[in-house]
Amino acid sequence: MGTGQLTIDLDAIAANWSALDSMSGGGTETGAVVKANGYGLGAARVARALAHAGARRFFVAHAEEGASIRNALGRGPEIYVFSGHMRGDTDMLGDLDLIPMINSIEQLTRHIEALPDAPFGIQLDTGMNRLGMEPGEWAAVRDIVVPRKPRLIMSHLASADEPESPQNQAQVTLFRELTAGCGIPRSLAATGGILLGPEYHFELTRPGIGLYGARPFTEARPVVQLDLPVVQCGVVLKGEAVGYNATWVAEVDTPTATVLGGYADGILRALTNKGSLWADGIECPILGRVSMDAITVDISGLDREPRALSLLCPEQGVDAVADVAGTIGYEILTALGPRYTRRYSGRAG
Ligand SMILES: *Cc1c(COP(=O)(O)O)cnc(C)c1O
Repeated sequence: MGTGQLTIDLDAIAANWSALDSMSGGGTETGAVVKANGYGLGAARVARALAHAGARRFFVAHAEEGASIRNALGRGPEIYVFSGHMRGDTDMLGDLDLIPMINSIEQLTRHIEALPDAPFGIQLDTGMNRLGMEPGEWAAVRDIVVPRKPRLIMSHLASADEPESPQNQAQVTLFRELTAGCGIPRSLAATGGILLGPEYHFELTRPGIGLYGARPFTEARPVVQLDLPVVQCGVVLKGEAVGYNATWVAEVDTPTATVLGGYADGILRALTNKGSLWADGIECPILGRVSMDAITVDISGLDREPRALSLLCPEQGVDAVADVAGTIGYEILTALGPRYTRRYSGRAG
């Protein structure tokens, strides 16, 4: 093993999709968000596993990502693009039958002029103030848009991972008002919104992070294992330091292992002197700075020199690493670098 190995359990992804799907009633379909290379795990394999599990509507951030998904899935599944119809996207959207989620009147005009018969969806801004038409803009175009039968009208919750936040109720109420009587399928909930309950489900849900085994879907099956090969073992003597700027100094003679993997692989530098790697169920604390390609850990808990140490494993999931690094599981996953060997387990896809 000359490089870190990322093992992705496709059956777990499929099981997580099914579990989220079973949380809403028969009138609600469950889509799948596979943007950012399937949250870092490999969009083509992930999308095929999800299609196998039953997903028929996929969501990506960019038209280019939609092209890879179309390539992986072939004709049939619907692929929606959150960034809508951007300048330069027309050929790709049209040729590959991708559905832009139109975010503004400017995009609407571009779409109707360039691809008058092509499908589209509408994204409304109900309070996140990131993407989507404002209520005023929507009021101005609603009567010309609805007769063109958009495939979907959606909005996005800003605080769905905080069930107590009053913003959830405010957004769902506004979304209902803006879409009342339009007869078009609606979607509001991502993973967090599914967990908020049926009031948030509408006709289609769009889970992402829950599929990949992280919060807020705490019941999710873990999906990833990350094993880093040991390059060298040694002993750091009392008073000696480890790593750049000597930020860790041994108080006693300490056996160490250095693995191949660092911040260039998405192992956040914030784990410096805080995070741990694991071997045989034993925690091995990170000593000193995480560097670009290497991390040194304390292996005094082990009774032999390990061949590999794990960052993501049953003892330490994506959320645990995120907590130590002061971030969220989404960032841990999407930071996973291109140098790892990706291995897929499971029968799905
Ligand atoms: C990323 C994203 C999702 C998926 O969100 P998760 O929290 O990962 O489930 C759904 N909708 C939109 C608009 C998004 O940007």
